[in-house]
Amino acid sequence: MLFSVLHHALIDLQDPIYGVLFCCLLAVSLVLYFVTCFTDPGYVPKQKLKTTGGQDHCLEMESDMSEVETCLTQDAQPLDKRHRYKYRFCDYCEIQPPLRAKHCEDCRLCVRRYDHHCPWLEACVGERNHKYFWWFLLVTAVLIVWTFVILWDSFVTKKSWTEWFHTNLVLFLLAIILVISGPVVLGLLAFHTYLMINGQTTWEASSRERITYLKYLENEFNPFDEGCLSNIYYFMCFHKVRRWEQVYAQKAKFTASQD
Ligand SMILES: [Zn+2]
Ligand SMILES: [Zn+2]
Repeated sequence: MLFSVLHHALIDLQDPIYGVLFCCLLAVSLVLYFVTCFTDPGYVPKQKLKTTGGQDHCLEMESDMSEVETCLTQDAQPLDKRHRYKYRFCDYCEIQPPLRAKHCEDCRLCVRRYDHHCPWLEACVGERNHKYFWWFLLVTAVLIVWTFVILWDSFVTKKSWTEWFHTNLVLFLLAIILVISGPVVLGLLAFHTYLMINGQTTWEASSRERITYLKYLENEFNPFDEGCLSNIYYFMCFHKVRRWEQVYAQKAKFTASQD
C-alpha cells in the first residue's frame, strides 16, 4: 500500500529521500491549491469609470488597478474607425469592465482576463492566479503518476483472480480513482499549457463566437498572442495589470465585413 511504502521509506529510513520528496510534493500541491483559491484572480472593483485621463497619465499609473480603467479611451482602439469594438457594460457591477474581463455569476464580480470559475476550487481563475492554477495542475499530475507507480509496484501476486482481488481490493479501488482522475488532470494540464503558450483563456477558446472583440477577427486570429516566449513570460512572471486594450489595438485586424 501507498502508506506502507512511505512508512517503509520514511520511518524505516530505507529510502528517506524518496519519501521526503513525495511528502514535499504533496505539501506543495496542497499549498498551491490554497494559494490558487485565496489569491485575488483579478476582480474589478464595483465603481464607476472615470471618463478623463490621457494616455500618458495611464502609463504612469500602470500598476494601479483603479487607474488602469481610465485607459479605456479611443487611444486603445484600432485606427480604422469602422472596426472599433464597443465596450460592454456590466449591469451587475455597473461598470465597463476592461478588455478580456468577464462577469462571474458565482463570484458576482467581473474578473480580469477571465479564464473560468473552477467548481473544485470554488474560486475564479483569472489574470492573477492562472499561473498558480497551472502549477497546481503540474504538481498534482506528477503526484498522480507517481502514486500510480507506487500502487502498481505494491500489488501482491496471487494464483487465482479471486484471491488476488481479495488481497488487493484497497489498492485496486485506489488505482481506479487514479485512473479516472489522472487523465482529467493531465488533460487539464495539457490544455492550460496550450492556452499559456498561445496567450488564450478557456473562455476565449471555447466561446469565441460570443465574444465581441474576437468574433469578427478573421481566420481564428488571436490578437493577444505575442509569441510563445512572451506569452509564457507574461503568464508566469508579469505581476502588474496588463492593458490588453493596447495589445489588442496594435495587433487586431478586423474583417471588412463588419461595417
Ligand atoms: Zn460584472
Ligand atoms: Zn468566479
